[in-house]
Amino acid sequence: MIKGFENLKAGLLGEKLPHSFSPKIHSYLADYSYELFEVEKDNLESFIKSDRFDSINVTIPYKKSVLPHLDYISDEAEKIGCVNTIVRKGTKLYGYNTDYYGFMETIKSADVDIKGKKALILGTGGASLTVRAVLYDCGASQIINISRSGENNYDNLHLHYDAQIIVNATPVGMYPKCDISPIELSNFKNCEAVFDLIYNPLKTKLLCDAQKLSIKYCNGLKMLCFQAKKACEIFCDTAIDDNLADDICNCLESEKKNIALIGMPSCGKSTLGELLSLKLGRKFVDTDKLIEKNAKMSIPEIFEKYGQEHFRELETNALKECAFESGLIISTGGGIVTQMRNLDILRQNSVCIFIKRDLDKLSSDGRPLSQSCGVKALYEQRLPLYEEFAEFEVDNNGDITKAADEIIKLAAEPERR
Ligand code: NAP
Repeated sequence: MIKGFENLKAGLLGEKLPHSFSPKIHSYLADYSYELFEVEKDNLESFIKSDRFDSINVTIPYKKSVLPHLDYISDEAEKIGCVNTIVRKGTKLYGYNTDYYGFMETIKSADVDIKGKKALILGTGGASLTVRAVLYDCGASQIINISRSGENNYDNLHLHYDAQIIVNATPVGMYPKCDISPIELSNFKNCEAVFDLIYNPLKTKLLCDAQKLSIKYCNGLKMLCFQAKKACEIFCDTAIDDNLADDICNCLESEKKNIALIGMPSCGKSTLGELLSLKLGRKFVDTDKLIEKNAKMSIPEIFEKYGQEHFRELETNALKECAFESGLIISTGGGIVTQMRNLDILRQNSVCIFIKRDLDKLSSDGRPLSQSCGVKALYEQRLPLYEEFAEFEVDNNGDITKAADEIIKLAAEPERR
């Protein structure tokens, strides 16, 4: 962390900044204060001319509209046509584009060769300009912007099914509307890599589809952390090691990811969930309790009155309600793995841990399916599903505190690909 800048007034300028990760990222980078400046369009000019900041980042919708107020614009920002970083030097304002660096680092670390490839950029906003400049500099042979109202649009997308690189620079798929994707990825038979600039959820529906199709994919968190690193270097005129930006990225990812526990009824998910919640200071949600709260009746009553299919729908809705949030501990019902749609929901923002407990320790009390099918038959049926859903497995036959510590360790690891 860079020290000695306590008096520097830094921050982020935008119109609405409800879920910004930037204050957190900058708190790891340097010791300046980093304020969120929510400014209405009519007040932009007076804000820029005010002394409320020394150095700021700029986001939607001001990356272009601040340009006329700057005294100097870097070559890169000039070429791209927008800035995301402004620094006051004496009485002059200098503008830079560090998103360029952030997206370039994302491509490098994903180890994707852009040279000679056809690339599609979804969206035509500020970020798409930066993405275009990076893809061009990486040697893409053709770069097409898809716009809802442009010549290349979502109605004639079939003209570009041969694209090899796809970048989502639209907000489609962003929290809270996580279960939509801007395109049907399976139509792009030559696709080699998908980048999504969105980082909440960590894995959008588009990226989940890429994972299923075994296509390389990368979210927008790296871009966010590296553009912040570059901005901080400009703010403080000091170089920062890449490893710090990578560490911040990993730290944010594990902080934002939910820890979802799956496994047979009575394997200890709820007890472990409560323990993890205490140890980590995170909110705990039990999907079975959420279903009962939403339906205003007990699970055996739901099964008896409406049957299993209806229960599974309520379960998926309850899962969406919590798994699209960030940083929660989630205990799921034993049968959550019977619906593949739940896998997509869990993959977006959760690390899924299979809690294993020996058959003779599992009980069927108050559990309609365990009672009707028998615990052993149910276990045999579900074991391959638990294994498919889970990123990690943890044994819960011994000391529960040790099992909780093991989960904390595993959940902090970067995603397994
Ligand atoms: P923007 O200026 O608002 O542009 C977004 C573009 O997406 C629009 O120009 C529009 O293009 C398209 N779009 C908007 N709503 C859509 C919808 N419902 N369906 C289909 N297309 C839609 O935003 P931006 O600054 O370019 O940012 C775009 C995305 O990148 C955002 O999600 C932002 O959070 C993210 N971002 C991430 C980083 C990072 O560091 N990871 C940096 C910058 C931006 P058309 O009207 O032409 O279709």
